[in-house]
Amino acid sequence: MSTFSKIFLLNGAGGRHYSAAAQTQLREILGSQLAGIKEAGTFKAERIITSSQSTQITVQGSDQRILNFCANNYLGLANNPEIVEYSRKLLEKYGAGLSSVRFICGTQDIHKQLERKIAQFHGREDTILYASCFDANAGIFEAILTPEDAVFSDELNHASIIDGIRLCKAKKQRYKHRDLADLERQLRESDGRLKLIATDGVFSMDGNIAPLARIVDLAKKYNALVFVDECHATGFFGATGRGTEEYDNVMGEVDIINSTLGKALGGASGGYTTGPSELISFLRQKSRPYLFSNTLPPAVVAVGLKVMDMLLASSELTQRVQSNTQHFRTAMTKAGFTIAGENHPICPVMLGDARLASNFADQMLTRGIYVIGFSYPVVPQGKARIRVQISAAHTEAEIDRAIDAFIEVGRSLKVIQ
Ligand code: PLP
Repeated sequence: MSTFSKIFLLNGAGGRHYSAAAQTQLREILGSQLAGIKEAGTFKAERIITSSQSTQITVQGSDQRILNFCANNYLGLANNPEIVEYSRKLLEKYGAGLSSVRFICGTQDIHKQLERKIAQFHGREDTILYASCFDANAGIFEAILTPEDAVFSDELNHASIIDGIRLCKAKKQRYKHRDLADLERQLRESDGRLKLIATDGVFSMDGNIAPLARIVDLAKKYNALVFVDECHATGFFGATGRGTEEYDNVMGEVDIINSTLGKALGGASGGYTTGPSELISFLRQKSRPYLFSNTLPPAVVAVGLKVMDMLLASSELTQRVQSNTQHFRTAMTKAGFTIAGENHPICPVMLGDARLASNFADQMLTRGIYVIGFSYPVVPQGKARIRVQISAAHTEAEIDRAIDAFIEVGRSLKVIQ
């Protein structure tokens, strides 16, 4: 028994403590499930990074710098010196945190500034910040939908949308992935008061895009609202990084956008909902992850503020990640690989077999390239792949090094000729 367990058993917590037998039982149940996960080959080990997040990183156990192609650091801002400096400044001015939820004493002028800037970036009326986009997704459906309403969700939506919808009392309907005929049939048959269509803008396992313009058309036809999760689009997708609605030429026509500050927008953390002012005011009153969770710390708010200023001033980084993506996708396709998805910096290199994908990723690492193999149950059986993520911060030489390594390993494993 660990020292911690002994102390815990002696002292208890607030007079209550686990009985030794109950804890033994817990350990046995979880231990055998963990063994099962390991046996199935789906145990997720974590590689320990010893540098800042960047295109070149170091990991524990090695001095070698490796090229990183698996972060959501699409704009390469996660260790941007200007952003880090601004974050340090606001840390000094505003302190480490607020020790409060927003409505008690957790709202600073910088939280309001960030909400305004995000609304301005998306061309929306108002924005509400959360600790994460997971929270934003967990907090919206339950707050606004009642049993009289209906929600229509793409079957491959992100786990946080699925969980958020589980919490609400509306009629829950799932439509086949990006299948507009199925969505239309369900909308036509629905007698929901409010009808809300919920979709990822970009689906992160395949790098494919929701058919947003046609979803918006269906929403108009059947008087429905459209909700889009833009975590893998905000800041870098569409000509000026406004996301899927810009990419699909329906700027301003989506009713509700949820997104994250934890990927392209500086990579720290935080999430938000942006949309009509009544919706945002209502969420401040009713959304549970907002009402009952601590406010975002100033140093994190600073990252969002600085990134928003950068993106409002210029789309240069957005264009760079797009041209890097084009370069990688074109060269890899020419070399004989199949790259799934559409024009997006998520570039899944399709391999099929799970062992092949994991072996391929291991061999890439020995060549100094960090990529990850994904296999069942994260993706369907027989559709194992290596998911490469391109960043604006990758240089052409770094991308070429990755392509060369892919070709070398691909030939040796007989994936390409
Ligand atoms: N939605 C999508 C599509 C995501 O990919 C993620 C992150 O993995 C989230 C929501 C959650 O975002 P956050 O990390 O801000 O909680």
